[in-house]
Amino acid sequence: MDGVAYTTGKDTDDDHKEIHFSLNYIHEVSRRLPQPGQSGAEIQGVLVHEMVHCWQWNGLGTAPGGLIEGIADFVRLKSGLSPPHWKKGGENWDAGYQVTAYFLEWIEDRMGIDSVRKINQALQAEKYEEHVFWENLFGRKVGDMWNDYLRSVEKDAETAEPETGKGSQSKVQGKDEVEHWDQKGHDEGA
Ligand SMILES: [Zn+2]
Repeated sequence: MDGVAYTTGKDTDDDHKEIHFSLNYIHEVSRRLPQPGQSGAEIQGVLVHEMVHCWQWNGLGTAPGGLIEGIADFVRLKSGLSPPHWKKGGENWDAGYQVTAYFLEWIEDRMGIDSVRKINQALQAEKYEEHVFWENLFGRKVGDMWNDYLRSVEKDAETAEPETGKGSQSKVQGKDEVEHWDQKGHDEGA
Protein backbone atom coordinates (compact mmCIF):
# COMPACT_ATOMS: atom_id res chain seq x y z
CA MET A 1 0.00 0.00 0.00
CA ASP A 2 1.00 3.66 -0.37
CA GLY A 3 1.88 5.85 2.60
CA VAL A 4 3.04 4.73 6.02
CA ALA A 5 0.13 3.58 8.16
CA TYR A 6 -3.49 4.32 8.95
CA THR A 7 -6.16 3.32 11.42
CA THR A 8 -9.74 2.59 10.55
CA GLY A 9 -12.89 1.23 12.19
CA LYS A 10 -13.82 -2.34 11.29
CA ASP A 11 -16.76 -3.05 9.00
CA THR A 12 -18.75 -4.66 11.82
CA ASP A 13 -18.54 -1.66 14.15
CA ASP A 14 -16.41 1.43 14.61
CA ASP A 15 -15.45 0.56 18.21
CA HIS A 16 -13.16 -2.13 16.81
CA LYS A 17 -10.11 -0.75 15.08
CA GLU A 18 -7.64 -1.96 12.51
CA ILE A 19 -4.15 -0.56 12.10
CA HIS A 20 -2.67 -0.94 8.62
CA PHE A 21 1.11 -0.56 8.40
CA SER A 22 2.97 -0.56 5.09
CA LEU A 23 5.49 -3.39 4.81
CA ASN A 24 7.27 -1.40 2.11
CA TYR A 25 7.75 1.38 4.62
CA ILE A 26 9.05 -0.99 7.31
CA HIS A 27 11.49 -2.42 4.76
CA GLU A 28 12.57 1.08 3.74
CA VAL A 29 13.07 2.14 7.38
CA SER A 30 15.25 -0.88 8.05
CA ARG A 31 17.33 -0.06 4.98
CA ARG A 32 17.70 3.64 5.77
CA LEU A 33 18.20 3.26 9.51
CA PRO A 34 20.31 0.09 9.75
CA GLN A 35 20.88 0.39 13.53
CA PRO A 36 18.14 -1.61 15.26
CA GLY A 37 17.65 1.15 17.86
CA GLN A 38 16.86 3.71 15.16
CA SER A 39 14.59 1.66 12.95
CA GLY A 40 12.88 0.13 15.99
CA ALA A 41 12.13 3.58 17.41
CA GLU A 42 10.68 4.74 14.09
CA ILE A 43 8.45 1.67 13.75
CA GLN A 44 7.35 1.88 17.38
CA GLY A 45 6.71 5.60 16.97
CA VAL A 46 4.34 4.98 14.06
CA LEU A 47 2.56 2.29 16.07
CA VAL A 48 2.14 4.57 19.09
CA HIS A 49 0.71 7.26 16.80
CA GLU A 50 -1.79 4.83 15.29
CA MET A 51 -2.72 3.36 18.70
CA VAL A 52 -3.68 6.86 19.86
CA HIS A 53 -6.17 7.02 17.00
CA CYS A 54 -7.79 3.87 18.39
CA TRP A 55 -8.45 5.51 21.74
CA GLN A 56 -8.99 9.20 21.07
CA TRP A 57 -12.25 11.13 20.62
CA ASN A 58 -12.96 13.46 17.74
CA GLY A 59 -15.79 15.79 18.80
CA LEU A 60 -18.37 13.58 17.07
CA GLY A 61 -16.40 13.90 13.86
CA THR A 62 -16.08 17.71 14.07
CA ALA A 63 -12.58 18.15 15.52
CA PRO A 64 -9.96 19.57 13.14
CA GLY A 65 -7.88 16.82 11.55
CA GLY A 66 -4.75 18.70 12.59
CA LEU A 67 -5.72 18.48 16.25
CA ILE A 68 -6.37 14.74 15.96
CA GLU A 69 -2.98 14.19 14.29
CA GLY A 70 -1.28 16.53 16.74
CA ILE A 71 -2.59 14.59 19.74
CA ALA A 72 -1.33 11.34 18.20
CA ASP A 73 2.14 12.80 17.68
CA PHE A 74 2.07 14.45 21.12
CA VAL A 75 1.79 10.98 22.68
CA ARG A 76 4.57 9.78 20.40
CA LEU A 77 6.71 12.74 21.50
CA LYS A 78 6.02 12.07 25.19
CA SER A 79 6.86 8.40 24.69
CA GLY A 80 10.38 9.45 23.70
CA LEU A 81 9.81 8.28 20.11
CA SER A 82 10.01 11.56 18.21
CA PRO A 83 12.19 11.28 15.08
CA PRO A 84 15.34 13.44 15.05
CA HIS A 85 14.10 15.67 12.21
CA TRP A 86 11.06 16.99 14.13
CA LYS A 87 11.26 20.65 15.02
CA LYS A 88 9.17 23.26 16.77
CA GLY A 89 7.23 26.09 15.15
CA GLY A 90 5.14 26.13 12.00
CA GLU A 91 2.47 28.05 10.12
CA ASN A 92 -0.70 27.19 12.02
CA TRP A 93 -1.53 25.59 15.36
CA ASP A 94 -3.67 22.98 13.59
CA ALA A 95 -1.16 22.03 10.91
CA GLY A 96 -1.10 18.66 12.67
CA TYR A 97 1.64 16.13 13.38
CA GLN A 98 4.74 17.50 15.09
CA VAL A 99 3.71 21.15 14.56
CA THR A 100 0.64 20.65 16.75
CA ALA A 101 2.37 18.08 18.99
CA TYR A 102 5.01 20.56 20.18
CA PHE A 103 2.31 23.22 20.66
CA LEU A 104 0.34 20.78 22.83
CA GLU A 105 3.51 20.10 24.81
CA TRP A 106 3.85 23.83 25.41
CA ILE A 107 0.20 23.96 26.57
CA GLU A 108 0.89 21.12 29.02
CA ASP A 109 3.92 22.95 30.39
CA ARG A 110 1.87 26.07 31.02
CA MET A 111 -1.63 24.87 31.72
CA GLY A 112 -0.70 21.79 33.68
CA ILE A 113 0.03 18.18 33.10
CA ASP A 114 -3.07 16.36 31.89
CA SER A 115 -4.12 19.23 29.61
CA VAL A 116 -4.08 17.02 26.53
CA ARG A 117 -6.10 14.35 28.31
CA LYS A 118 -8.65 17.08 29.09
CA ILE A 119 -8.69 18.12 25.44
CA ASN A 120 -9.39 14.53 24.43
CA GLN A 121 -12.06 14.20 27.12
CA ALA A 122 -13.76 17.40 25.92
CA LEU A 123 -13.97 15.88 22.44
CA GLN A 124 -15.89 12.84 23.69
CA ALA A 125 -19.49 13.99 23.78
CA GLU A 126 -19.62 17.51 22.38
CA LYS A 127 -19.05 18.96 18.95
CA TYR A 128 -15.91 21.03 18.52
CA GLU A 129 -16.59 24.74 18.37
CA GLU A 130 -13.37 26.67 18.30
CA HIS A 131 -14.63 29.91 19.85
CA VAL A 132 -15.70 28.15 23.07
CA PHE A 133 -13.61 24.97 23.16
CA TRP A 134 -10.24 26.41 24.23
CA GLU A 135 -11.66 29.13 26.44
CA ASN A 136 -13.73 26.57 28.35
CA LEU A 137 -10.63 24.46 28.95
CA PHE A 138 -7.89 27.03 29.46
CA GLY A 139 -9.58 30.45 29.56
CA ARG A 140 -7.68 31.53 26.44
CA LYS A 141 -8.16 31.67 22.68
CA VAL A 142 -6.15 29.07 20.79
CA GLY A 143 -4.78 31.72 18.40
CA ASP A 144 -3.44 33.78 21.31
CA MET A 145 -1.78 30.73 22.85
CA TRP A 146 -0.26 29.85 19.46
CA ASN A 147 1.22 33.36 19.14
CA ASP A 148 2.71 33.10 22.65
CA TYR A 149 4.08 29.69 21.76
CA LEU A 150 5.74 30.97 18.57
CA ARG A 151 7.35 33.77 20.54
CA SER A 152 8.77 31.26 23.00
CA VAL A 153 10.13 29.15 20.14
CA GLU A 154 11.80 32.24 18.61
CA LYS A 155 13.25 33.18 21.98
CA ASP A 156 14.67 29.68 22.45
CA ALA A 157 16.20 29.85 18.96
CA GLU A 158 17.85 33.21 19.78
CA THR A 159 19.43 31.88 22.94
CA ALA A 160 20.61 28.72 21.17
CA GLU A 161 24.11 28.63 19.72
CA PRO A 162 24.53 30.52 16.43
CA GLU A 163 24.71 28.20 13.46
CA THR A 164 27.98 27.55 11.73
CA GLY A 165 28.30 26.73 8.02
CA LYS A 166 28.37 23.07 8.93
CA GLY A 167 25.19 23.46 10.95
CA SER A 168 23.24 24.97 8.07
CA GLN A 169 24.30 22.12 5.87
CA SER A 170 22.94 19.52 8.26
CA LYS A 171 19.72 21.56 8.47
CA VAL A 172 19.26 21.16 4.73
CA GLN A 173 19.79 17.44 5.05
CA GLY A 174 17.24 17.40 7.84
CA LYS A 175 14.70 19.04 5.56
CA ASP A 176 15.16 16.36 2.91
CA GLU A 177 14.55 13.77 5.56
CA VAL A 178 11.34 15.50 6.65
CA GLU A 179 9.99 15.21 3.15
CA HIS A 180 10.91 11.58 3.01
CA TRP A 181 9.74 10.57 6.43
CA ASP A 182 6.66 12.68 6.91
CA GLN A 183 3.61 10.58 7.60
CA LYS A 184 1.41 12.82 5.47
CA GLY A 185 -1.51 11.06 3.90
CA HIS A 186 -1.22 8.00 6.07
CA ASP A 187 -4.49 8.52 7.92
CA GLU A 188 -7.58 7.77 5.99
CA GLY A 189 -9.60 7.16 9.14
CA ALA A 190 -8.50 9.01 12.27
ZN1 LIG B 1 -2.48 9.86 12.28
